[in-house]
Amino acid sequence: MKLKVILLLLLFFKLSLAQNVIIIVVDGARYSETFGAGSTYIPHMNNDMKPFGVVYTNFRIAHEGITSTNPGHSSILTGTWQLIANDGTQRPTKPTVFEYFRKELGSSVTQNYVVTGKEKLDVISYSSDPNYGILYQASENCFDITDGDVYSNLISIMDTYHPRLIIVNLPDTDRRAHANDWDGYLSAITNADNIVYQLWQKIQTDPFYQNNTTLFVTNDHGRHTTDYRNHGDDCDGCEHIMLLAIGRNVSQGIVNSDLHYQIDLGPTIGDLLGFDTPQAIGISLFQGSNPLPVEISFFTATVLENEVKLNWRTQTEISNYGFEIERLQKFHIEKLQEWEDIGFVQGYGNSNSPKYYSFVDENVSSGKYSYRLKQIDTDGKFEYSKVVEVNLNSTEKFELSQNYPNPFNPVTMIKYHVLEISFVTLKIYDVLGKAVETLVSSEKAAGDYQSIWNAESVPSGVYFYTLQAGSFTETKKMVVMK
Ligand SMILES: [Zn+2]
Ligand SMILES: [Zn+2]
Repeated sequence: MKLKVILLLLLFFKLSLAQNVIIIVVDGARYSETFGAGSTYIPHMNNDMKPFGVVYTNFRIAHEGITSTNPGHSSILTGTWQLIANDGTQRPTKPTVFEYFRKELGSSVTQNYVVTGKEKLDVISYSSDPNYGILYQASENCFDITDGDVYSNLISIMDTYHPRLIIVNLPDTDRRAHANDWDGYLSAITNADNIVYQLWQKIQTDPFYQNNTTLFVTNDHGRHTTDYRNHGDDCDGCEHIMLLAIGRNVSQGIVNSDLHYQIDLGPTIGDLLGFDTPQAIGISLFQGSNPLPVEISFFTATVLENEVKLNWRTQTEISNYGFEIERLQKFHIEKLQEWEDIGFVQGYGNSNSPKYYSFVDENVSSGKYSYRLKQIDTDGKFEYSKVVEVNLNSTEKFELSQNYPNPFNPVTMIKYHVLEISFVTLKIYDVLGKAVETLVSSEKAAGDYQSIWNAESVPSGVYFYTLQAGSFTETKKMVVMK
C-alpha cells in the first residue's frame, strides 16, 4: 500500500507550485453533441486538443434531480452538491475554490475571476459560509451577453489582471436550445469550440500563462435525453456532461472512461494550485483512477502551548484498522534517534468520502519533535506517512529576518541565524515562484549571517526570499521599487 501525503504548510512548496487554472463552462451542452459525437460539432476540441489532454467520457452530475446553471457552477467551484436556487437569489452554501485560494494562500481579489454571459451567475464569486464569504471573494464580470462578448471580456481581463483562477460561462448553447432552435443549438456548440481553441492558443503564446496553466472545458448540466429544449432532472442526457483537461500537470492523449463527478473539479483545482479544500466531498482527478486503499491527503502538526496537535485526513479507505502515532525527539547525536509509539487512533475502516482525524500529544517538553503515522490495515500490512516536525518552546531557533531597507532600490540586506551546523540555501523568487537568484548555497556553522542582494537586473515588483537550513524553511516578502 502506498500513502500519498500532500503537505501544504510550507510557503516554499506553495511557491514552487505556482500556476494558473481556467475552467470554461459551455452552458447546457449535452454530451451527445460534444465528445459523444466525435468531431461533428467540436472539431477543434476533438481533433486539435484531445491528443494533448485527457478526455473524460464518463463525467457526470449526481444531483438528485437538479441539473441547472447556478447549482452546476456552484458544484464545480465548491466540490459539493449545491441544490441552490437557479435564479441568482442564493449563493453557494460551502466555500468556493476562490475562497480557499485567497484564505489559505493569500491570493488577491484580481487573481480570482468569474467571467460569465449570465448575470445571475454573479452569486458564485463567494459563498454564504460564515468562515469564508465576501472577504475572500473573486472579482466578477457577469452580464447577460453573448459568447463572443464573454470571450472579449475574458481576454481583456487576462491581459490586465493576469488572474490565476478563472471560471468562464459561455451561455449561448443553453439559450438557443431553450428557444427551440436546434440548428442554433448546434452552431452555438461549434462556436464555443472555436472560442475554446482560440483561448488555448492564447494560453500557449501568452508569456504569463504559457506552460503554466491548466484548462478545463466542461458543462454545468446537459439536456433531457428525450427533449433537447429543456433540462433539470436526473435523466442521462441531463447528467452526462463533458470534461476535457489540458495543459500543465495533465497527461497527453488519454481517454479516461472511469466514472468521475462534477464535484471532483473543486479538489482537483486545489491540488493544482496548492491549497486544501476541506469541505469538498469530491475526489481530486489527480488521485488516480485506481484509488489507493487508504490515502492520506493532509497531515499537519501544530504547537498549542505545551502540546502538539496532529491533524490528518484520508480521501478514501479500504480495510483501515487505524493509525499508530510515532514520535521522535531530536537529540544532538543523531545515532540515538529512535521512533517511539505514543498512541493509536482507530480508523474508519471503509469509506469513499474524506474522514478527519486528530491526536494531541500532551507529553512533550522543550525541543524538536518529529511525528509520523503508521497506517495499519486489518490484515496487518502497514505503511508510514511522511514526517512532520515541530519545534517546542525553544528560545533559540533558526531565524530569517525582514530585509532592510524595504522597499529598496537596488540593494538590500537579509540577515539570518543558523542554530546548528546545516547546509543553508537562501534564494530569491519572483511572484510566479521562479527562482531569480541564489544568494547562499553552502554549509554554515551556528551563528549570525547577513547577505546582500542587488536587484539591479530585475524589474520592480514583489519578490520572495526563502531560507532553507536542514528541515527549517521560511519565506519572506520584499518589494523592489525603481
Ligand atoms: Zn437552461
Ligand atoms: Zn433530463
